[in-house]
Amino acid sequence: MSGIVDGKVAFVTGGSSGIGRGTALVFAREGARVAIADIQVEQGHETVRLVKEAGGEAVFVKCDVSVSSEVKAAVETVVGTWGRLDFGFNNAGIESAMAKTADHAEEDWDRVIEVNLKGVWLCMKYEIPQMLKQGGGAIVNTASIGGMRGLGGMANYCASKGGIIMLTRTAALEYARSGIRINAVCPGGIHTPMGKRLVGQPMMTETRGNAMKRWGKPFEVGEAVVWLCSDKASFVTGHAMAVDAGFLAA
Ligand code: NAD
Repeated sequence: MSGIVDGKVAFVTGGSSGIGRGTALVFAREGARVAIADIQVEQGHETVRLVKEAGGEAVFVKCDVSVSSEVKAAVETVVGTWGRLDFGFNNAGIESAMAKTADHAEEDWDRVIEVNLKGVWLCMKYEIPQMLKQGGGAIVNTASIGGMRGLGGMANYCASKGGIIMLTRTAALEYARSGIRINAVCPGGIHTPMGKRLVGQPMMTETRGNAMKRWGKPFEVGEAVVWLCSDKASFVTGHAMAVDAGFLAA
């Protein structure tokens, strides 16, 4: 049975947990080899085990996406292992303690921007040259409903995710004629360790909930990501796709 990304190589950051792990499993189901990049080593190896158990091929690469040398080395490892890099799913992200804008600790501001926004840029910085060498590729960056709507208590997070959307659009324009499509997904309310931490926070005053009145599952984001990477999305670039059960429609 052939999948929609058969024989391709995907690099998934934040692949040790949640949306990254769920997406790695969808990539594998659809025929791609998957490199899991994360700072959580044991859980990363668990994702590799789950992919292999499902009949796929995966490796783990320890990588802090906010450190340039580590991202460069991780991309080199993937290319060294499988000889190519077709997809980047730049998904690793964090939140900080909730606080009103004026009350965010400066170190919380810096860390969230460093991991979420600079981390995505660093991944693209090292993925794109390899894709240019190969003549093409596809990138999906994880933004959020918080990149489109304000979420009370999360100014640093929302600023980072809004930044990811504009980074995605700009890069998409720059590389559209070089065979590289670059899109974002904007998940809302996904049942992961981060999702469980966020929902129900008293500071999340703007959260009205989604129209389906249920949590999303990590694989439901993964299905969108893998489709965006596949040739089925050949005319789609620069798009920020909501995977949010209608949250942004309200
Ligand atoms: P999660 O906490 O389950 O997974 C995040 C993963 O990122 C973890 O494995 C963590 O170790 C890794 N990570 C954190 N900092 C890193 C770093 N510096 N370098 C490498 N890896 C690092 O959370 P999740 O819900 O799966 O989140 C994945 C992405 O989805 C994040 O960017 C998050 O902002 C976004 N998102 C999540 C939701 C949701 O409801 N869960 C909604 C919108 C957007």
